[in-house]
Amino acid sequence: MFLWMAALSARATEDPVAKIADDSRCARGLAWIEKNSSWVTEQHIRLTEIPAPEFEEAKRAQALKEMFATAGLPVRLDKVGNVVAEFPGTSSREVILLAAHLDTVFPEGTDVHVRREGSQLLAPGISDNGVGLSALIGLARALSESHIRLAKTVVLAGDVGEEGEGNLRGMRTLVDSYGSRLSAVIAVDGPSTDYITTQAIASRRLEASVTGPGGHSWSDFGAPNPITALSRGIVQFSSVSIPEEPRSSYNFGIMEGGTSVNSIPSRAVVKVDLRSEEESELARLETALRQAIQSGVNQEIAATNSSNNALQLSFRSLGTRPAGKLPDDSPLLETIRSVDRYLGNRTRLERSSTDANIPLSLGIPAVALGGGGKGGGSHTLDEWYDPAGRDLGLKRLFLIVASLAGLES
Ligand SMILES: [Zn+2]
Repeated sequence: MFLWMAALSARATEDPVAKIADDSRCARGLAWIEKNSSWVTEQHIRLTEIPAPEFEEAKRAQALKEMFATAGLPVRLDKVGNVVAEFPGTSSREVILLAAHLDTVFPEGTDVHVRREGSQLLAPGISDNGVGLSALIGLARALSESHIRLAKTVVLAGDVGEEGEGNLRGMRTLVDSYGSRLSAVIAVDGPSTDYITTQAIASRRLEASVTGPGGHSWSDFGAPNPITALSRGIVQFSSVSIPEEPRSSYNFGIMEGGTSVNSIPSRAVVKVDLRSEEESELARLETALRQAIQSGVNQEIAATNSSNNALQLSFRSLGTRPAGKLPDDSPLLETIRSVDRYLGNRTRLERSSTDANIPLSLGIPAVALGGGGKGGGSHTLDEWYDPAGRDLGLKRLFLIVASLAGLES
């Protein structure tokens, strides 16, 4: 019995995460998290109720900046509108960057008021990414309250342009500005603590637009119709086979065009999102998409006996996200797994398209992690979040940060 206990305590002292958690300053930070989960939820609600459609993150950014300042961290806005707070390191130039995107997929005018139903909070954007932003505020406070000293600098950033057509410009700017100082990047996105995103799905977003002569629905009947042309192309592309390996996907997300029900439109536009685990498959899909839409336009011209140049087709890139993968033996992944073992948190590895795409594509160790709690209905008006379990997510981030940045006496 005695030997067994001695062996157990020897193992506990050998566990570097246990050693960090037992440090009195870390213990103070972890205790702060345990006691202040509902304070973090209050900040979460405040941030969620400030609308932040893509390209209009400034108001939410300002509120986040004030919260970081109140937590005692030096904070600034950078040239693209990212909020950048620093917890300065004491002996290293290296940087651990944690970033949560400020923007949502919801357009201006969406009701973002947070409703409570039982233990759940409901509002568009509450989970994606109100959770990530509030996790950074919780982490900032816990770091300050703990009076911990870390060797590397921890940067906590609310970044712009993750959703829609933002093209990850916020993360691109952060990676650019910290450059070779970055030793790890963690995108905090959504709630889930049961997976670690280590593989970045590549994506290409395109807009196809068709213009034509337009006309009156009755008197010009028979003129080529851009909406019909695009529809023919969409149907054709829908029969292209999409492989399961490498896993790939497409989505026609927005279609617009025309001015009235009794006018032949002079313009129609469709926006498409293509994704794949492999760049080569993505390239094949893009070629197939361009050919299918062109063929739809040709069919519409032929069906209406129009001249060859009656309709004009053009494509515009709305953004590309590069692929990348964190190696299975990466020290960053090993650190996260050690923390998960210490906390008894079971996880699996996942693939996704997040802010982590940018550092991963450049070979900088990066993952996307959840901020804690449970949520669902992301990108819908029924989005929800349940804060139960939030403290696990926050403690996990705290211990990961302390492990990566290195505790100083
Ligand atoms: Zn997100």
